[in-house]
Amino acid sequence: MFDYLMTPEQLKLRDETRDLIKSLPREYILDMDADKIRYPKEFMQEAGRRNLIGIRVPKEYGGRGGQWQDDIIVAEEICVPGYIFGCTWGVSGDVVTEALVHFGTEEQKRKYLPPICKGEKFAAECLTEPRGGSDFFGATTIARRDGDDFILNGQKRFIVGGEGADFFLVYAKTDPEAPPHKSITCFMVEREMGVKTEYLYNLMGSRGGGTARVVFENVRVPKENVIGEVNGAYAVFSQMMIPERFGTAAMTIGAARPALEIATDYSTKRKAFGTTIKNFQGVNFKIADMVIKLDTCRAMIYTTALALDSGKVKPSRCRRMASECKRFVSEQCWDVANLAMQVMGGIGYTDVYPIEKIVRDLRLSMIWVGTNEIMNSIIQHEWYKERAEEIASNSKRNSELDAFSAFAEGEKVYE
Ligand SMILES: Cc1cc2nc3c(=O)[nH]c(=O)nc-3n(C[C@H](O)[C@H](O)[C@H](O)COP(=O)(O)OP(=O)(O)OC[C@H]3O[C@@H](n4cnc5c(N)ncnc54)[C@H](O)[C@@H]3O)c2cc1C
Repeated sequence: MFDYLMTPEQLKLRDETRDLIKSLPREYILDMDADKIRYPKEFMQEAGRRNLIGIRVPKEYGGRGGQWQDDIIVAEEICVPGYIFGCTWGVSGDVVTEALVHFGTEEQKRKYLPPICKGEKFAAECLTEPRGGSDFFGATTIARRDGDDFILNGQKRFIVGGEGADFFLVYAKTDPEAPPHKSITCFMVEREMGVKTEYLYNLMGSRGGGTARVVFENVRVPKENVIGEVNGAYAVFSQMMIPERFGTAAMTIGAARPALEIATDYSTKRKAFGTTIKNFQGVNFKIADMVIKLDTCRAMIYTTALALDSGKVKPSRCRRMASECKRFVSEQCWDVANLAMQVMGGIGYTDVYPIEKIVRDLRLSMIWVGTNEIMNSIIQHEWYKERAEEIASNSKRNSELDAFSAFAEGEKVYE
């Protein structure tokens, strides 16, 4: 249905991305799942060569110069061969670039954005630490000022591109005594400065993205590599939440879509009780559920993209919308993958079809870039604030009073 809403340029962009994805050898995808390929360098290089990295990065810095409405189209397609393709593509070209575009100096933009967009260099985001990822302000990685440099010490965990990336966007405490939101600074750290990759995780799915623990031991980072203000990383983090969460949501649809396609095709061929299984309501209603779930997700993503692109939405509302998308889409897509497995019966649980891989891959969507519990905590926080503002503005009908006994004495008791 969304094809009808796309401009000719967007249709072209989608088809370009489909071409890239179709050109991927199946051995490459399987080698990533088998952890034989540790980081999809060749894929990223090819995507960069086709100008499909940095969709929202301005053209003057090597990007595509698009908007969210363009980005979500590419994000969906990129994840079709596996969630991790989107993870590596998104972290490098959507998340790290977001920090550079919004907070980078002209020099930083000219130095880092073109090689990332061309797929010559790869970027990783380093936020999560062994002591936890949900509590951003609890960072224990420290950057101590030393003349014109900062000395970085600490560890970051579960970093996509921990192995494979050249640039690391790192959050570190620079003023441990300050209030939490004024205590952290964001740095662009180059691997050559001394970043060590210590442990590559054995993951349930979404393999091949170099997800690793990275260690900083007295890494000397020049002050020119501070992104934004010293002690001002909260602003960077708040901005990056949008591509992290909204971009992830758009990607997740692409990772789930093949499950619907494979289950649909299987149900038209597989027979039981003398008929194809698609003739059973128990099967075809599941297909209907999957179609509705994916289309509902796309509707949410598309309208959110329009809202974000309008530039009219205040930042706190953007964060709520991005968090809603991430939670809702990841749960719907998880359902889609599981429904597909059910439609396939026993063979869905084997590696004869990639359904089991899709299930393994997609479980990550409810955990990374902030767990779905953290999404809920943002959504409720922003919503309560918005509701209080609504009440104060007295601009809407007060629905509470539309009840027969709305004024019953002594009945509205709150304490
Ligand atoms: C494959 C993979 C790739 C990843 N890639 C990256 C990456 O590239 N860069 C990066 O920085 N991180 C990355 N992550 C880390 C990911 O974002 C974190 O795992 C996630 O944010 C949760 O942090 P945690 O694992 O430390 O869990 P914790 O923060 O310890 O949370 C544990 C549980 O407690 C719950 N919880 C915690 N606080 C609250 C609260 N206030 N209210 C309700 N529930 C709460 C959580 O929801 C969760 O269920 C990746 C993780 C994985 C598995």
